[in-house]
Amino acid sequence: MQGSEAYVIGAGPAGLATAAMLGRAAVGTQVLERDQVAATWRRHYNRLHLRTVRWLSNLPGLRFSRRHGRWVSRDGVVGYLERYVEHHGIEVRTRVEVRRIDRERDGWALETPAGTLGSRFVVVATGYNHTAWIPDWPGRDDFTGELIHGSEYRNPEPYRGRDVLVVGTGNTGAEIAVDLVEGGAASVRIAMRTPPNIVLRETNGIPAQVTGLLMRHTPARLGDPIARVMQRLTVGDLSEYGMPAPAEGNLTRVRRDDVVPILDVGLVDALKRRQVEAVPGVERFDGSAVILADGPRLEPDAVIAATAARSSRWSITSACWGRRAGRWSTALALTPRRRVCTSSATRTRSAGSSSRSVSTPAGSPARWPSRPRPRRRRRSVA
Ligand SMILES: Cc1cc2nc3c(=O)[nH]c(=O)nc-3n(C[C@H](O)[C@H](O)[C@H](O)COP(=O)(O)OP(=O)(O)OC[C@H]3O[C@@H](n4cnc5c(N)ncnc54)[C@H](O)[C@@H]3O)c2cc1C
Repeated sequence: MQGSEAYVIGAGPAGLATAAMLGRAAVGTQVLERDQVAATWRRHYNRLHLRTVRWLSNLPGLRFSRRHGRWVSRDGVVGYLERYVEHHGIEVRTRVEVRRIDRERDGWALETPAGTLGSRFVVVATGYNHTAWIPDWPGRDDFTGELIHGSEYRNPEPYRGRDVLVVGTGNTGAEIAVDLVEGGAASVRIAMRTPPNIVLRETNGIPAQVTGLLMRHTPARLGDPIARVMQRLTVGDLSEYGMPAPAEGNLTRVRRDDVVPILDVGLVDALKRRQVEAVPGVERFDGSAVILADGPRLEPDAVIAATAARSSRWSITSACWGRRAGRWSTALALTPRRRVCTSSATRTRSAGSSSRSVSTPAGSPARWPSRPRPRRRRRSVA
């Protein structure tokens, strides 16, 4: 079995930074990447810029050059990650997908199409936005309009002159709505289940990220009212534009639900100019129509579901306890919705959900936990 002292799976920012630091600690490391370096960033929509300010977005050991400006573009991030590989001399093996990891006596066995690799350490850095997820709305599959996930959106060109409904008021949904307006869509609506917290990306030259850092030790019972006042002063009251004030505070949502506020890059203005209309959340589809909560019916040409992506933590879906070679072993599978336990597993448990455990007879697919709540600091298995 070929091997390396450590394998890092995924050549995104997390995997590359980990590999660089392992290299610095003289741990022989290879990165295994199913696609190419910075694959996720290469696929993001064209107008995307980091919402974290350049000087707080560096990975360890290499700064972004000043020529990228304050907000680094998507292509700037891709170029930076390519330079990062060179700068640290990181060994990346591209087009190698890790399909399964098994615990071995002295380390781990990684199953890839090219054979099994052995190592002492494995770091899984396959990404928080690993798998696009569209809610299973009733009637969804029979919708006669166009339906895509936000991760497939690149630019507004295909939507020029069309009525578009963007679903989801995360940062991606908010920015796609603005992009569509600027790109000439005939009408743009944004559907939300929960009114979002909104902060300007920067206020008087101070990036929202800096304010967030300053408030990171502030208890939510103090920070939430401060953030509410800030939102009222900087963003204003958007209820007459269909977006009421959020019921819960900014810090509470970040800490409890891992939901970051919209770092606004234009949605607020577009709402105030009535270029984007905020509407209630989607309840179901009916032929060419989308039925919203409380009953309104729309007939958009296209629906862009800027709904959550599932992190790879969930696609390391299940630790499967099975008897293998006379001892208990743990298998971690990296590919979602695919059968994961080839051993005589009788029980699977989602790697990130605290209490859900499901019975999975050997040979049937592992069931997926509904709406996993992200947890921090559990991104890697080593
Ligand atoms: C639209 C958007 C904007 C963002 N903006 C910011 C920002 O401004 N500032 C910020 O700090 N963060 C931002 N983030 C969050 C985060 O920093 C990025 O998503 C970042 O790319 C995450 O890095 P990662 O290495 O964890 O995952 P990824 O960049 O997704 O890298 C994971 C890699 O693993 C590979 N992979 C997956 N499965 C396998 C497998 N089985 N075998 C081998 N390889 C595999 C993938 O091909 C991919 O290359 C943003 C995220 C999104 C979606």
